[in-house]
Amino acid sequence: MEDIALSYFVIKYFMEKSIKTYLKTAAKDYTSRSVNPPVVRASTILFKTMEELRKHQKDIAKGKDVEHWDYGRQGTQTSVQLQKMLRGLEEAYQVFLTPTGFAAVALSIMSICRPGDEIVISDGVYRPTQKLTDDLLKEFKIKAIWYNPNNFNDLKNKITKKTKLIYVENPGSNTFEMNELGKIVSLAKSKNIFTAIDNTWATAYFFKPLKLGFDISITSATKYYSGHSDVMAGTVAVNKNVYKKVWWYNHVSGYRLSSDDAYLIIRGLRTLDIRLEKHQENAKKIISFLKTQRKISKILYPYKPSSREFKLLKKYYSGASGLLSIIIKSKNKKSVYKFVNSLELFGIGYSWGGFESLAVYTDPVELGIRRYFKLEKNEHLVRLHIGLEDPKDLINDLRRSLKFIK
Ligand SMILES: *Cc1c(COP(=O)(O)O)cnc(C)c1O
Repeated sequence: MEDIALSYFVIKYFMEKSIKTYLKTAAKDYTSRSVNPPVVRASTILFKTMEELRKHQKDIAKGKDVEHWDYGRQGTQTSVQLQKMLRGLEEAYQVFLTPTGFAAVALSIMSICRPGDEIVISDGVYRPTQKLTDDLLKEFKIKAIWYNPNNFNDLKNKITKKTKLIYVENPGSNTFEMNELGKIVSLAKSKNIFTAIDNTWATAYFFKPLKLGFDISITSATKYYSGHSDVMAGTVAVNKNVYKKVWWYNHVSGYRLSSDDAYLIIRGLRTLDIRLEKHQENAKKIISFLKTQRKISKILYPYKPSSREFKLLKKYYSGASGLLSIIIKSKNKKSVYKFVNSLELFGIGYSWGGFESLAVYTDPVELGIRRYFKLEKNEHLVRLHIGLEDPKDLINDLRRSLKFIK
């Protein structure tokens, strides 16, 4: 099979230009006069002759990097441009596109695991991932074994002859535990186990999992790639090791990202660097304020230089994003709700990664999705997404609303 992904184009780019320039110049349309690629909406793709159609089929079977597919479900000129762009960003062999971020999680796990296999999975993962592995996959005789993300030895001790996949989300969803990613990759390689990581929090802009040695890097493109809370998409970046497995499951699963949505992700990616740098800068300013507040007992975010989390961040990541949690100590839960309700600049709702700030109260212990994370009595967790508003206004909003906590 030909090396379809790290094409000369991408390699050349990384030798000569920075990622910031890459995001502006990839997926340009050089065939028409517009700066951006066209949105091609298509189910049927037409060929001039039967011979041309057959040749195209053969090229695809050989894994050639075709500019268009033979049927809309496989992709269009628009989604092919997004795939190319993401291959460069992730430095991946190939990137598969899915209609939501969660479909990217499902595609990854279903591509690798079969009845009788075990998945050793981080306790910090996103709730729907827990439902998929613990509830649905159990019915297919695939067992999820949970490890403590703060303790590498716990993970190591849970590996058996049946372990097929180590699945990580870093940092943990809502609870922000940091894994020892390098050790996980080395362990997996020594035992021929596949590795997948949900990298939505940092994105490939701050951390490239495949370069560290992960087989699969998952991103909910709904979040920072889109950046505007107006589209849903997911990406699965793979190395050569798992390419065929993911290609096969993708081929028979019917996942497809629409061309309009693929276009919006290309558009979002143009400013990914600028937005992420600003989310990071704003988050740092908000944290400087939050850590002076006595009603807040803990900030879950890798920011304290002496902490294990910060050291792990520095080891593997070039930056941190705008999502964090705060732990509030209060005997009065209603007053914590009042704090969230009183925020004027923070919307209340799920998802994140858009330009706007968000706040949501959540209790991972009560939801039954954490085996190792504990909240003490009278502790409450509020997740904050720090948006691109002026941080001074965000701090004033937080200061004013924190007064309601009793
Ligand atoms: C949001 C999210 C997903 C799912 O993405 P959707 O696009 O909402 O389906 C997966 N993983 C993480 C870490 C997320 O935050």
